[in-house]
Amino acid sequence: MNNVHPIRLPKKAGSDPAEARCGAVLTVDLDAIVENYRLLRLKSARAACAAVLKADAYGLGAARVGPALAAAGCRHFFVAHLDEGIALRRVLPPACLIYVLHGPMPGAEAEFLAHGLRPVLNGLEQIDAWRALSRKADMALPAALQVDSGMARLGLSVAELAELDAAPERLFGISVSLVLSHLSWAEIPEHPANVEALQRFRALRARLPAAPASFANSSGIFLGADYHFDLLRPGAALYGLAPQAGRKNPMKPVVTLQGKVIQTRSVPAGTPVGYNGRFVAHTECRIATVGVGYADGFLRCLGNKATASLRGYEVPVIGAVSMDLITLDVSAVRGDIAPGALVDLMGGDAAPPDAIAVQANTIGYEILTLLGARYHRAYRGGAEPTGEQGDLS
Ligand SMILES: *Cc1c(COP(=O)(O)O)cnc(C)c1O
Repeated sequence: MNNVHPIRLPKKAGSDPAEARCGAVLTVDLDAIVENYRLLRLKSARAACAAVLKADAYGLGAARVGPALAAAGCRHFFVAHLDEGIALRRVLPPACLIYVLHGPMPGAEAEFLAHGLRPVLNGLEQIDAWRALSRKADMALPAALQVDSGMARLGLSVAELAELDAAPERLFGISVSLVLSHLSWAEIPEHPANVEALQRFRALRARLPAAPASFANSSGIFLGADYHFDLLRPGAALYGLAPQAGRKNPMKPVVTLQGKVIQTRSVPAGTPVGYNGRFVAHTECRIATVGVGYADGFLRCLGNKATASLRGYEVPVIGAVSMDLITLDVSAVRGDIAPGALVDLMGGDAAPPDAIAVQANTIGYEILTLLGARYHRAYRGGAEPTGEQGDLS
């Protein structure tokens, strides 16, 4: 045939070809994220509420999460890297402020200006570099300052603050729009390090130019009003993770991961399943193979451990997790299981990210941020523009 016509596939109304092609669908409920944002904002009578969108909004897609939160009135956003800020700037309304937590790498300062981003300055080197840029630009440049309240990770130390006290001109040309610090024990409310960090933050902040302050991440918000200051800074709780260890999770679930069955088979008792026969069928057994594996962030340590759900039936993951596949014992499922049948692997009828994290000996943050690039991300909802929020700039 010399005349090749492209084949037209029948298209159902609303059907997404990418969703049909993929091996697994990650559904992100933007309305639930917005509800979580509102719940967190209401935890404080006076503080504004920012959103932390680093690591592609914890793996859920900053380009979709950001605009949904902006439409819900969020005006302050945090990312970790300059590149994340540049990407987020393209999708947010100009009125939204974007802070880059890591501050400028040497030589990259001017890019913050070019892209309308604010650095968080974490030490004297970054302060000096930002001041140098302000001189070159011949104008005052806004930035946040981070102080170290006990985590020893990022931020000005007590010694550096003393150096600043001795040479206050190092801050000339920097208009400090926010002073922030980060808690290292916030998810354990009774831990004494929280109060110590709070006291340190208050003391350190008093030595800097007066500016709005931001201290509380998701868990910190639940430590009470003393921790709220002017701007809340949640990430995890927006995405449905529990802010307090061992307590009921007040946040709405946000993610559902569904894998597709590729094929099913029945095997007799004694059949080894998967690499190294790490599962051996003890009776006759029906197995469904699903196109999700450790390369998608379905951790290898979940082999013989995790449980999925197919049409409401619990179906255990049996054998090793492969790079691109898992095997499920679907013996308990009544009726046919057609290729393409969806199995809930996380959220939905399956365990939430926090529970999977416990099985994998990690935290929900790691489970979310490892969610694979091969998943098709389907978005539900998204807010219409509503309430505005006070300007902290
Ligand atoms: C990641 C991060 C947050 C958000 O923390 P969550 O625990 O996800 O709410 C806030 N502040 C800083 C400095 C962070 O690095």
